[in-house]
Amino acid sequence: MTATPATVFEGALLVTQDDRRRVFRGSLRVDGGAITEVGETVDRAGAETVDASAFAIVPGFVNTHQHVAMSLLRGIADDRDLGAFLEVLFAVDARRTEADLEAGAAAGIAEMLLSGTTTFLDLYYGEDAIARAVERLGIRGYLGWAVLDPAMTTQTGVPVENARQFIHRWAGHPRVHPLVAPQGVYVCGAETWLKAREVAEAEKTLVHYHLSETRREVHEHEAKYGDRPPIWLDKIGFLGPDQIAAHGVWLTRREIELLANHHVGIAHCPNSNLKLATGGVCPVTELRAAGAVVGLGTDSTASNNSLSMLREMHIAGLLQKHQRWDAAALPASTLLDMATIDGARMLGRGSDLGSLEPGKRADFSMFRLDHPTLLPARPEAIVSHIAYAASEEAVDSVYVDGECVVRHRVLQREPWEPIRRSAESAADALWPR
Ligand SMILES: [Zn+2]
Repeated sequence: MTATPATVFEGALLVTQDDRRRVFRGSLRVDGGAITEVGETVDRAGAETVDASAFAIVPGFVNTHQHVAMSLLRGIADDRDLGAFLEVLFAVDARRTEADLEAGAAAGIAEMLLSGTTTFLDLYYGEDAIARAVERLGIRGYLGWAVLDPAMTTQTGVPVENARQFIHRWAGHPRVHPLVAPQGVYVCGAETWLKAREVAEAEKTLVHYHLSETRREVHEHEAKYGDRPPIWLDKIGFLGPDQIAAHGVWLTRREIELLANHHVGIAHCPNSNLKLATGGVCPVTELRAAGAVVGLGTDSTASNNSLSMLREMHIAGLLQKHQRWDAAALPASTLLDMATIDGARMLGRGSDLGSLEPGKRADFSMFRLDHPTLLPARPEAIVSHIAYAASEEAVDSVYVDGECVVRHRVLQREPWEPIRRSAESAADALWPR
């Protein structure tokens, strides 16, 4: 499916996200799924040419925190805090089937592709169903099997062993990257955290988890164990590289240093935090200053309620500026970095994803320069437009490994209508009557 002929995209406005963050009119050559040349002119020999002069080409977005199968649950638990939200969600979770997980994942993946996301990091159980949806639609999925203490789970068997078997089933797949995902300190004791780390080390995968999302989580943990979650995770010997923590809302200066020193990546999820009235704000500026890599995540459609990284960049910028009384906090260029190259670095893919450079995989989107939300379509403003203004409708075509997965807003692997119908009927069975 990934073997495509050489293609030259000519005359585009290239938002490269390379080391110099160059933005210029030029061409991009793709051979065998990889970008082989980027420049004002490129070698056209043996290649199909695409007139890209009406488009900005932008690296595919990397969504670093997600529960994509929850797409069937958008709007089911609005306007309540995390505790009340989870009560509704847990009740529904207990009734989910493999078929409805896949139907929800396919719908969510379609939404992501149609808004320019080419890679996502997921945390859920039953990830085989989500992996199948990834395979069907051609996105790149980092899929974390949710791990809890055996006493806390509805999974059959021991969750951490289920995660290990899931990793074995999908290891080596070109687009599905399995990993282990301890859900959070409120459902995982020390033994579970350490076993998850052990599995990740043995299988050479990432570890993904929720961390310090709410004050309640932090205070309850401190009351129970005498330490706030990051300090405790360090003391038990869990923290380390190749880990991605979602949220990181309630962090002290000491915890920021600790996470940065352990090279833990942070998935900032501002829409979800704001909607669930988390109260605090992820200290993105301090984390970056300490050397931590910070990406953006949408979290699920039940708490956001969108999977658009365009909305995530926009709100992430506004939130930091407003909270810090500093209009220069998180400028547009940093927001786009977080959505592209920094997300790729968090997944250990900084060398082959996240920018338009020779040698990288050809994962990118073509934004229509004639869309009203990109006016005026000037090179010096395009990064600002993408971070603050662009509508999802401006995303015309999307490529993963050089394969066109969305063309003129139409999914290429499967039509949307059957995906929509099966998601609607799966939702009918899940929602309370
Ligand atoms: Zn989450």
